[in-house]
Amino acid sequence: MADGLTHVLLGWVAVELISIKYPWAMKYRALVLVGAILPDIGNFAVLMGETGANELYYLFMPLHSIVGSLLLVGVLTMIFKGEYRKKVFLLLTAGVATHLAADYFIIFLDGKVPLFFPFTFEKVGYDLFLQAGRGFLIVALVAVVVTVLRRKQVERKLKNLDEK
Ligand SMILES: [Zn+2]
Repeated sequence: MADGLTHVLLGWVAVELISIKYPWAMKYRALVLVGAILPDIGNFAVLMGETGANELYYLFMPLHSIVGSLLLVGVLTMIFKGEYRKKVFLLLTAGVATHLAADYFIIFLDGKVPLFFPFTFEKVGYDLFLQAGRGFLIVALVAVVVTVLRRKQVERKLKNLDEK
């Protein structure tokens, strides 16, 4: 999987793009960033040692699929008050979507993503970036810089219009 930093950066790009159409999304950007690392929460099982990680593998593995991660997003959404749920669900889902899409383009050292679990265990992917390589990180970094600069430019223009 792409590393955590790459996922967070891609989530950030998603926030910038979403906020073009839905400015309120910027206020809740943390949700997209959380969504962007959500499918990999199984990685934290490593903290319980190697046996812990192995035993929990099948618990967390389904979270790294479309159905599994959407179920998790649904459960997390229920924590929030009714009026916020729609926004929370959409923003978490946007983050998850960037994660799964990103992992799809990784050449995995240990197999790919079971994207369509539970329909199939088959792990799918399009080998574009090396898992341990820096290529994806650099692409994500450039995308963040471009989208942030674009937003700053728009904000400057709006400010100038206000002053006139
Ligand atoms: Zn992942």
